[in-house]
Amino acid sequence: MLNIVIFGPPGAGKGTQSKLIIDRYNLTHLSTGDILRAEMANKTPLGIEAKNLIEKGELVPDDIVIGMVRNKIDSEAGSEGFIFDGFPRTIEQAEALDDILGERNTPISAMISLEVEEQELIDRLLKRAELEGRKDDNIEVIQNRIKVYNEVTSSVAGYYAKTGRHRSVDGTGTIEEIFGRISSIIDEVKKSS
Ligand code: ADP
Repeated sequence: MLNIVIFGPPGAGKGTQSKLIIDRYNLTHLSTGDILRAEMANKTPLGIEAKNLIEKGELVPDDIVIGMVRNKIDSEAGSEGFIFDGFPRTIEQAEALDDILGERNTPISAMISLEVEEQELIDRLLKRAELEGRKDDNIEVIQNRIKVYNEVTSSVAGYYAKTGRHRSVDGTGTIEEIFGRISSIIDEVKKSS
């Protein structure tokens, strides 16, 4: 199996690049944001609990997202591997993911971190707001999501760096250019694993 974390601040392009990666490498896309949005659309108890937090740009509690991820991994037992998108967002989530995958003998091979400067993130998210109308894509909530990323989530990169699994990628340029940078890293990781 090939398990990769795609990482970066809101608006870095994780979802866009994940779609290209799963097609080329035949992997399963596991986006906690997508799962949470589906729960909200179906008005499940979990979705109702998460809605308030998401619409403020706050994180959903660790135990909830860790449980969701565990279920999704188990329901895709035949998968050739996963792209984790939007997860882990805290050190506790990163440790839980290592435990879950450790029990299944399929570790995370690499974290690919998309680097984009803050003003470009804001511009991209405001543009997406016009196109998709996501409730958390307005300027106040965007600013809070970036703040939560800087204060809490960014430290997750250090967790992977400590174990030699962190890889930085320039997240600017065309979608194809960025995908080219990502695929050369994945090809390298595949060769050495
Ligand atoms: P983006 O990367 O553009 O901020 P996502 O679609 O990944 O958006 O996530 C949307 C929201 O869902 C987040 O702002 C957060 O409230 C919640 N969320 C998603 N993944 C997690 C997670 N791993 N831990 C806690 N909350 C999460």
